[in-house]
Amino acid sequence: MTVSKPPVSNFIRSEIEADLAAGRYARIRTRFPPEPNGYLHFGHAKSICLNFGLARDYGGVCHLRFDDTNPEKEEQEYVEAIIEAVRWLGFDWGPHLYYASNYFPQMYAFAEKLIEAGLAYIDSQSPEEIRINRGTLTEPGKNSPYRERTPQESLELFRRMRAGEFPEGAHVLRAKIDMASPNLNLRDPVLYRIKHARHHNTGDAWCIYPMYTYAHPIEDALEGITHSICTLEFEDQRPFYDWLLENLADLGCVTRPLPRQIEFARLNLSHVVLSKRKLIQLVEGGHVSGWDDPRMPTLLAARRRGYAPEGFHRFAEMIGVAKADAVIDYGVFEACQRDVLNEISPRRIAVLDPLRLIIDNYPEAAHEECLAPNHPQKPDWGKRRLPFSRELWIEREDYQENPPAGYFRLFPGNRVRLRYGYVIECLGAEKDEKGRILAVHARYFPDSKSGTPGADAYKVKGNIHWLCARSAQRATVRLFDRLFSVPNPGAERDFLLDLNPQSLTSFSAFVEPELAAAQAEQRFQFERHGYFVVDAKDSTPGAPVFNRTVTLKESWK
Ligand code: ATP
Ligand code: MG
Repeated sequence: MTVSKPPVSNFIRSEIEADLAAGRYARIRTRFPPEPNGYLHFGHAKSICLNFGLARDYGGVCHLRFDDTNPEKEEQEYVEAIIEAVRWLGFDWGPHLYYASNYFPQMYAFAEKLIEAGLAYIDSQSPEEIRINRGTLTEPGKNSPYRERTPQESLELFRRMRAGEFPEGAHVLRAKIDMASPNLNLRDPVLYRIKHARHHNTGDAWCIYPMYTYAHPIEDALEGITHSICTLEFEDQRPFYDWLLENLADLGCVTRPLPRQIEFARLNLSHVVLSKRKLIQLVEGGHVSGWDDPRMPTLLAARRRGYAPEGFHRFAEMIGVAKADAVIDYGVFEACQRDVLNEISPRRIAVLDPLRLIIDNYPEAAHEECLAPNHPQKPDWGKRRLPFSRELWIEREDYQENPPAGYFRLFPGNRVRLRYGYVIECLGAEKDEKGRILAVHARYFPDSKSGTPGADAYKVKGNIHWLCARSAQRATVRLFDRLFSVPNPGAERDFLLDLNPQSLTSFSAFVEPELAAAQAEQRFQFERHGYFVVDAKDSTPGAPVFNRTVTLKESWK
């Protein structure tokens, strides 16, 4: 699969361009608003690339805002991991790092204004009564018996809620809109509830907390966001978003122009789960080694796996944004990564399944060097020296005693080129008593060395990679298969039953001598095997562990 040029426009860009042309906003301002209750995943990367990308493309600004209004679930550990992940993706928010919880005083003050204006009231129904009286999609809701409370009475109760005089569930603050609205979100939505909980940022300062639907529009307005881009499930919330901000603007709480909410379809990827709840189950159930297990769809894991940030950018551009949910084939993501990795990865040689090759007519004590380009399309990256001697390692699959038609590699009597080295002719193999092949024998043609005059006179169809057995180094190599064996895990049964039992293979292989000194996060293409990265966690000095990021060609289906 090759990656086509990214689409130049999409509906969000059109809307932004129209807003700028109409003079609605002078400069665009977007935000990425994660809740610090988990690690970022590939879906978040789409949202990050979208929001930061729009700001970049239209000369605007993108804020990083922690949507930390819920006291119970949030942790500092996630805040740090999120900051690092967004940086790793290559984005910069400058001074615009915000915490929604810092706006609690304004949110509270605005709530009092809404009460005074008769736009909100304290409801003292039980949570159960509130739920029942909300009605259904086909039946209108019923007004609360407390709905006509005077603003003074509601205000006093609200202040007492804040002072901690009531237990959880005793009262809530609700917007006064329309209990008969066909949109359930406009049936007097709850704005504040009592929660006697400690908050990671504000400590014990508050025992009432704003609901997300109330807090989010205010956060956007206070920061001067112009385009509040979110996923489709918030579409039905947009009327409330606008109702709230229009009223707060009329009350002088926030200034115009107000932000606009625009929804897009969230990212769904085949063979991958992105729900936080399911990712937690994978970690806690020990199905993966942690949040950074290279098979996980988190950005922490992506980094360890060797995926390139630019590959995420390319992917986000490539899939664009849509108004309808769809599932993107994981192969599309991999194709984007390959395109980027091809550009940035020096070539090296690794023999993953070694078989000894002995060149009978090469003197035992002799050795020499062959020159191999570091990148076939980038001569300025130079060449490196590959040691060559009588005994080499080749891939076991590059020899077959009885080859099928179309097999051009080693078999008795056949000639192949040892890539960057000599042409050899296969003489046969040594076997043990069980018939297992122990070593392949060949003879070489001294005048066939690559790069020397006359080398081109040898015409061969096969070209195999190899390493000098005397100098090759051992290294651990890990290959990954998809974590789930079906495209839509959990569609038919518990998603854990869809785990692919063979998603990880780890073994010892041979690599070029200099690779023993490879540093964490260095990337290479191992010729014919794919793109690899030095694992940042399990490698030790002199003993790198290589993770395969992706194969060279699409190999899954
Ligand atoms: P939660 O259910 O806990 O809210 P969430 O995945 O929505 O989970 P947030 O931290 O609230 O997590 O998400 C931050 C931002 O990332 C939001 O703007 C959200 O719309 C966006 N986002 C989350 N998942 C995806 C996805 N799969 N595709 C695109 N954007 C996403
Ligand atoms: Mg969310």
